[in-house]
Amino acid sequence: MARNNRYGQPDHRFAGGRNGIDPYSRFLLVVSCVFMGLSLLSQMRGWRWVALAGWCAALGVFSWSVWRSLSRDTVRRQRENQRFLSLWRKIDLWFRLQRERYRYRKDYAFFRCPGCRSLVRVPRGKGHIRITCRRCGFSFHKKT
Ligand SMILES: [Zn+2]
Repeated sequence: MARNNRYGQPDHRFAGGRNGIDPYSRFLLVVSCVFMGLSLLSQMRGWRWVALAGWCAALGVFSWSVWRSLSRDTVRRQRENQRFLSLWRKIDLWFRLQRERYRYRKDYAFFRCPGCRSLVRVPRGKGHIRITCRRCGFSFHKKT
């Protein structure tokens, strides 16, 4: 998608045919900042080689991010971004799940369904019970 310049016309000269900073590029920028921070910390501790390696990594990731934003192969860059987003969603979901498990650890027991591997939540302290998976209908016995 072409961006508009300050006259309200699409700016084909620069932004046209490029994706700009998408979420994947933004993530890479954050990673590069993290490397930069680690590099500075190592420098302060006197770990010169670690600091140098961190700095190179920061520069590399930063260049990669800028290169992605300016790349004219927008289809491939968008595909990379989609892959990144779906991976990111999975990671996010996993962390949410762990948080929920922790929050309800006293009231609920969590089991993985042997049929479809999805997580099943059941109230604790019910003894041996038969659990039926809501997603695939598989049922199994567990002690809660
Ligand atoms: Zn299941």
